[in-house]
Amino acid sequence: MSDCLFCKIRDGEMKASIVREDEDTIAFEDINAQAPTHVLVIPKKHIASIDEIEPVDAEVVGKLFLAAKEIARQRGHDEKGYRVVMNMGPDAGQAVYHIHLHLLGGRSLSWPPG
Ligand code: AMP
Ligand code: ZN
Repeated sequence: MSDCLFCKIRDGEMKASIVREDEDTIAFEDINAQAPTHVLVIPKKHIASIDEIEPVDAEVVGKLFLAAKEIARQRGHDEKGYRVVMNMGPDAGQAVYHIHLHLLGGRSLSWPPG
Protein backbone atom coordinates (compact mmCIF):
# COMPACT_ATOMS: atom_id res chain seq x y z
CA MET A 1 0.00 0.00 0.00
CA SER A 2 1.87 3.08 -1.26
CA ASP A 3 -0.12 5.58 0.82
CA CYS A 4 0.03 3.64 4.09
CA LEU A 5 1.97 5.37 6.87
CA PHE A 6 3.08 2.15 8.52
CA CYS A 7 4.15 0.60 5.21
CA LYS A 8 6.31 3.71 4.78
CA ILE A 9 7.86 3.14 8.21
CA ARG A 10 8.44 -0.51 7.25
CA ASP A 11 10.15 0.60 4.04
CA GLY A 12 12.27 3.27 5.76
CA GLU A 13 10.52 6.07 3.86
CA MET A 14 9.16 7.52 7.08
CA LYS A 15 11.25 7.97 10.22
CA ALA A 16 10.39 6.00 13.33
CA SER A 17 12.14 4.97 16.49
CA ILE A 18 12.34 1.24 15.84
CA VAL A 19 12.74 -0.89 18.94
CA ARG A 20 12.53 -4.39 17.51
CA GLU A 21 12.39 -6.07 14.12
CA ASP A 22 12.20 -9.65 12.93
CA GLU A 23 11.31 -11.42 9.72
CA ASP A 24 7.59 -10.71 10.04
CA THR A 25 7.14 -7.79 12.46
CA ILE A 26 8.45 -4.32 13.31
CA ALA A 27 7.95 -2.46 16.60
CA PHE A 28 8.46 1.27 17.04
CA GLU A 29 7.69 3.99 19.57
CA ASP A 30 4.27 5.63 19.27
CA ILE A 31 4.77 9.35 18.48
CA ASN A 32 2.02 10.29 20.92
CA ALA A 33 2.88 8.04 23.86
CA GLN A 34 0.08 7.44 26.36
CA ALA A 35 2.27 5.61 28.89
CA PRO A 36 5.99 5.36 29.75
CA THR A 37 6.06 2.45 27.31
CA HIS A 38 3.86 2.91 24.25
CA VAL A 39 5.13 0.79 21.41
CA LEU A 40 3.30 -0.21 18.24
CA VAL A 41 3.91 -3.67 16.82
CA ILE A 42 2.98 -4.15 13.18
CA PRO A 43 3.19 -7.00 10.71
CA LYS A 44 5.42 -6.30 7.72
CA LYS A 45 2.52 -7.50 5.60
CA HIS A 46 -0.06 -4.80 4.99
CA ILE A 47 -3.33 -5.85 6.61
CA ALA A 48 -5.72 -2.91 6.92
CA SER A 49 -7.72 -3.96 9.97
CA ILE A 50 -8.75 -6.90 12.14
CA ASP A 51 -11.68 -7.29 9.78
CA GLU A 52 -9.25 -8.13 6.96
CA ILE A 53 -7.21 -10.75 8.81
CA GLU A 54 -7.39 -14.07 6.95
CA PRO A 55 -6.62 -17.57 8.23
CA VAL A 56 -3.28 -17.45 6.38
CA ASP A 57 -2.33 -14.48 8.61
CA ALA A 58 -2.84 -16.38 11.88
CA GLU A 59 0.85 -17.03 12.42
CA VAL A 60 1.97 -13.47 11.84
CA VAL A 61 -0.80 -12.12 14.05
CA GLY A 62 0.40 -14.47 16.79
CA LYS A 63 3.91 -13.13 16.27
CA LEU A 64 2.70 -9.62 17.08
CA PHE A 65 1.88 -10.85 20.59
CA LEU A 66 5.20 -12.66 20.92
CA ALA A 67 7.05 -9.48 19.94
CA ALA A 68 4.99 -7.41 22.40
CA LYS A 69 5.70 -9.89 25.18
CA GLU A 70 9.42 -9.76 24.50
CA ILE A 71 9.54 -5.95 24.54
CA ALA A 72 7.44 -5.84 27.72
CA ARG A 73 9.83 -8.27 29.41
CA GLN A 74 12.89 -6.34 28.26
CA ARG A 75 11.40 -3.21 29.83
CA GLY A 76 10.52 -5.00 33.06
CA HIS A 77 6.76 -4.77 32.67
CA ASP A 78 6.13 -8.50 33.06
CA GLU A 79 5.95 -8.27 36.85
CA LYS A 80 3.41 -5.46 37.25
CA GLY A 81 1.64 -6.01 33.95
CA TYR A 82 0.88 -4.15 30.78
CA ARG A 83 -1.79 -3.91 28.12
CA VAL A 84 -1.89 -4.86 24.46
CA VAL A 85 -4.78 -3.57 22.41
CA MET A 86 -5.75 -3.38 18.77
CA ASN A 87 -8.44 -0.98 17.64
CA MET A 88 -10.79 -1.84 14.80
CA GLY A 89 -12.82 0.77 12.95
CA PRO A 90 -14.16 4.22 13.81
CA ASP A 91 -15.95 3.36 17.06
CA ALA A 92 -12.69 2.02 18.47
CA GLY A 93 -10.76 5.04 17.17
CA GLN A 94 -8.63 3.24 14.61
CA ALA A 95 -6.68 5.99 12.87
CA VAL A 96 -4.10 4.03 10.87
CA TYR A 97 -5.40 1.26 8.66
CA HIS A 98 -2.44 -1.12 8.93
CA ILE A 99 -2.98 -3.36 11.94
CA HIS A 100 -0.88 -2.60 14.99
CA LEU A 101 -0.81 -3.80 18.54
CA HIS A 102 -0.45 -1.03 21.08
CA LEU A 103 1.82 -2.14 23.92
CA LEU A 104 1.22 0.09 26.95
CA GLY A 105 3.14 -0.28 30.17
CA GLY A 106 4.88 1.49 32.99
CA ARG A 107 1.82 2.90 34.71
CA SER A 108 -1.47 1.70 36.11
CA LEU A 109 -4.07 1.58 33.33
CA SER A 110 -7.76 2.05 34.00
CA TRP A 111 -10.45 -0.33 32.81
CA PRO A 112 -12.86 -0.14 31.09
CA PRO A 113 -11.37 2.23 28.53
CA GLY A 114 -13.36 5.34 27.57
P1 AMP B 1 -4.96 3.67 16.23
O1 AMP B 1 -5.83 4.81 16.69
O2 AMP B 1 -5.18 2.41 17.00
O3 AMP B 1 -5.04 3.48 14.73
O4 AMP B 1 -3.49 4.11 16.59
C1 AMP B 1 -2.66 4.82 15.75
C2 AMP B 1 -1.46 5.18 16.54
O5 AMP B 1 -0.40 5.52 15.65
C3 AMP B 1 -1.65 6.40 17.46
O6 AMP B 1 -1.38 6.03 18.81
C4 AMP B 1 -0.65 7.43 16.92
O7 AMP B 1 -0.07 8.21 17.94
C5 AMP B 1 0.35 6.54 16.22
N1 AMP B 1 1.09 7.16 15.14
C6 AMP B 1 0.60 7.90 14.12
N2 AMP B 1 1.58 8.27 13.30
C7 AMP B 1 2.73 7.74 13.79
C8 AMP B 1 4.10 7.79 13.39
N3 AMP B 1 4.50 8.44 12.28
N4 AMP B 1 5.01 7.15 14.14
C9 AMP B 1 4.64 6.51 15.26
N5 AMP B 1 3.36 6.42 15.69
C10 AMP B 1 2.43 7.04 14.97
ZN1 ZN C 1 0.46 -0.69 5.41
